[in-house]
Amino acid sequence: MDLKDIEQDLAGVLHTEEELHARLEELAREIERDYEGRSILLVGVLRGAVMVMADLSRALRRDVEMDWMAVSSYGSGTTSSGVVRILKDLDTDLTDRDVLIVEDIIDSGLTLSWLQANLRSRGAASVEICTMLRKPDALKVEVDVRYCGFDIPNDFVIGYGLDYAERYRNLRGVAVLAPHVYASADD
Ligand code: 5GP
Ligand code: MG
Ligand code: MG
Repeated sequence: MDLKDIEQDLAGVLHTEEELHARLEELAREIERDYEGRSILLVGVLRGAVMVMADLSRALRRDVEMDWMAVSSYGSGTTSSGVVRILKDLDTDLTDRDVLIVEDIIDSGLTLSWLQANLRSRGAASVEICTMLRKPDALKVEVDVRYCGFDIPNDFVIGYGLDYAERYRNLRGVAVLAPHVYASADD
């Protein structure tokens, strides 16, 4: 891939930057059709969704509003706790709004199913989900995902906004993190 100093940390590339962008263009056409005549509030989930938000919002050939939330998920480890906390809330009133949550990845689904219910309870007209990646084999709860970029195997991945201990987010594609990286950190 493109960051020479981390080549030894990667176990393989899953999706290149070109593949991610091409898929986002397809999703953008679907979103344009589905939301015709309605305003859209894109809600990005910090910090992982920054890249998806930047690229999806610019792929859309229409006006959108954007807001951001931060919720707790994995900390710096690689397994889900299932405990969701709001670290930064929205600034926007959701009453009667059509909300599209923009996420990097759905793993267990615990974060997103909680977040979708939470935003619905604020009086939004609709709350749909767009995620770049999803791990079908890791799902613990049903999540109603309207737009999904790619289904991927149940491995810990990094890049395109996804981190391990805050590193690797600026990798342009999505890659599997070599197990030796987190095995040595957990000792
Ligand atoms: P979930 O609640 O669906 O299990 O996961 C929520 C969050 O955990 C994601 O938004 C993401 O921040 C993090 N996460 C889940 N799987 C991965 C992964 O494979 N790699 C990275 N870097 N983060 C992940
Ligand atoms: Mg996320
Ligand atoms: Mg993370």
